[in-house]
Amino acid sequence: MSVLIRGGRIVTAADDYVGDLYVEGERISLIGESLDVQADKVIEAAGKYVLPGGVDPHTHLDMPFGGTVTIDDVQSGQTSAAFGGTTCHVDFVIQPPGSSFAAALEDWQGKANGKQVIDMGYHMAVTDLKEGGTLEELASLPDQGVTSYKLFMAYKGALMVDDETLFRTMEVAAETGALVMVHAENGDAIDVLVKKALAEGHTEPHWHALTRPPETEGEATNRAIQLARVAGCPLYVVHVSCRESVEPIALAREKGWDVWGETCTQYFFVDYTFLERPNFEGAKYVYTPPPRAKENQDVLWNAVRVDTLSAISTDHCAFRWDGQKTMGRDDFSKIPNGGPGLENRLSMIHEFGVRGGRISLNRMVELLSTNPAKLFGLYPRKGTIAVGSDADIVVFDPAKRHTISAATHHSKSDYNLYEGTEVTGVPEVVLLRGQVLVEGDELVAEPGVGQFVRRARFGQELKPAPAVA
Ligand SMILES: [Zn+2]
Repeated sequence: MSVLIRGGRIVTAADDYVGDLYVEGERISLIGESLDVQADKVIEAAGKYVLPGGVDPHTHLDMPFGGTVTIDDVQSGQTSAAFGGTTCHVDFVIQPPGSSFAAALEDWQGKANGKQVIDMGYHMAVTDLKEGGTLEELASLPDQGVTSYKLFMAYKGALMVDDETLFRTMEVAAETGALVMVHAENGDAIDVLVKKALAEGHTEPHWHALTRPPETEGEATNRAIQLARVAGCPLYVVHVSCRESVEPIALAREKGWDVWGETCTQYFFVDYTFLERPNFEGAKYVYTPPPRAKENQDVLWNAVRVDTLSAISTDHCAFRWDGQKTMGRDDFSKIPNGGPGLENRLSMIHEFGVRGGRISLNRMVELLSTNPAKLFGLYPRKGTIAVGSDADIVVFDPAKRHTISAATHHSKSDYNLYEGTEVTGVPEVVLLRGQVLVEGDELVAEPGVGQFVRRARFGQELKPAPAVA
């Protein structure tokens, strides 16, 4: 199978030019001007952008959490991703406390088998380390292509680890070349604040934010940065939501430390007041860290512009409002934490970042694709348009208008965080390793086309697969 994408505006993190792109098998084999080649399929892309497929480094599909399970499984979650121009993501395997990593990984791979629509990798969320067992096993994960360890510094009594486990994991990472990721919030302080609020009779959704003040995120971010420095491992802070955590990351990066940060689409658009919406609507916006005061949105735009934050993910962790979020009607602490968004990242950031004049088109590609690929050992197979790279490509129509709505999205969630938002610019054709996944409103490929990708260690390149003879 060969595909010719003709006359599009090819945009990577570095380049921007009009040209033709020829795909043979699964990889890009030729880029040039007016290519004289025969192809099985020709896509006319004049007036369109030709972008590398999005890489979403932070999602939760089919994950048990908060007494329920996220509503999107691998198939519906990855279908949403494909329609949104994301062709690769890295999902979190959660180690059940006491379990081996091998068992957890097998469990997660079982949930994905036969359902994969896009390519994927796994991070390992460490909840529990035992000497003479999981501590040693942790070191073997990078050999299996699982090259990042995630630690929750919040969710006391569930996923949270203490500083000993955090620091020991960092020491292992320093040895094995894995990247350490932290959910940075002070879970002990938050636990005290939640109990106090409930004892005082505060049960509404906005108390989710009032019991997780930005300083608890800033404190944990700084603690993780300092500990990673002592251990000598690279650190990636997920879902940065506010000035209090942007500042310690900026300081560490100024010093040249191996520290990176990510924010998520929703933190640019959803602010604290959404949690106060009446009739339990506010529960739709209960995710962690919580939506913050609006002034943080400018802080985040500036942070992604100047590379204090280097990636934008979705933290897609979807629940239905009706039946799942409503579990916390009488107690905000029982509202499952998380929101949908896997499908909307590219269109939202293009609309308000690029069209809004906040970031360049190149920078958008860097934040949504190239940097996540580089940080998570997927580059240059993923994250760029280059000869030899996987033909994961989005033909993006920058002029087409679309209104975002739960009525038309592909997640199983019954609401959308950006309901009613009008965007100009949507993916038109999406290719995964040379196969057409999405064409217009249709999913063309069958589930099962996606693959598990064994990622390279931090800072190392993932060699392109050999060309098919
Ligand atoms: Zn998450």
